[in-house]
Amino acid sequence: TSFGYARVDEGRKQALVDEVFHKVAERYDLMNDLMSGGLHRVWKDAMVSYLAPPRAMGSGWRLLDVAGGTGDIATRVVRRSNEMARAVVCDINESMLNVGRDRAEKAGLGDVITFTQGNAEDLPFPDRSFDAYTIAFGIRNVPDIPKALREARRVLKRGGRFLCLEFSEVDVPVLDKLYDTFSFQAIPVVGKWVTGDGDPYQYLVESIRRFPNQERFADMIREAGFERVTYRNYSGGIAALHSGWKL
Ligand code: SAM
Repeated sequence: TSFGYARVDEGRKQALVDEVFHKVAERYDLMNDLMSGGLHRVWKDAMVSYLAPPRAMGSGWRLLDVAGGTGDIATRVVRRSNEMARAVVCDINESMLNVGRDRAEKAGLGDVITFTQGNAEDLPFPDRSFDAYTIAFGIRNVPDIPKALREARRVLKRGGRFLCLEFSEVDVPVLDKLYDTFSFQAIPVVGKWVTGDGDPYQYLVESIRRFPNQERFADMIREAGFERVTYRNYSGGIAALHSGWKL
């Protein structure tokens, strides 16, 4: 691609990703806490504050959370809106969706959050059907990212908001070295310890390394037709939140 992001072996990549999340689904939430030291919660909360879903009654505001897995973002958004917003979680992986569906039921959010299986590259929704599109720690796993970005724009209404939270490039000296050591050495070890298999985590660490940095990813979002594209770093760039609008 024009961004030099490898798109070879797309079929194989998706199969590998699917296997990873089938294996970890049951322990996914625990792993997130262990591997990010709980930071993923802070980043997700910040993302939802930035999105600021309306709390007004009868707004009919609808979120699509793609690669939504166990429903972390959708749950936060719905709660933040005083349960006025509706959310659809779309994920390619049935195991992740099952864990999310159970969790939403238990939280009493079973009728405001729905779970749909689907591919980010080919979303099973009509044009202009959502007010916001979120994707957290998901786009990195999608083989054809430009295609997923075009799909995001297609399903958004005019004036709709795109938000993407993803691991990014650390821009703080010393922290970058520490982070490198931690992620390359510790993450696969902790992953093996908790789930019995380190390979999925080796893959995840490598996919972070290959993902375009903040500026390059912002360009990809613009290229998909989004406007007013900006980003903010979290924790020195360990994660970044990209924002764009369909105008
Ligand atoms: N958004 C959740 C969170 O932040 O906790 C889950 C993130 S998890 C790291 C990545 C998710 O992306 C997995 O649930 C995986 O099944 C999903 N995924 C991978 N490839 C996908 C694709 N092509 N389309 C939709 N979802 C995909």
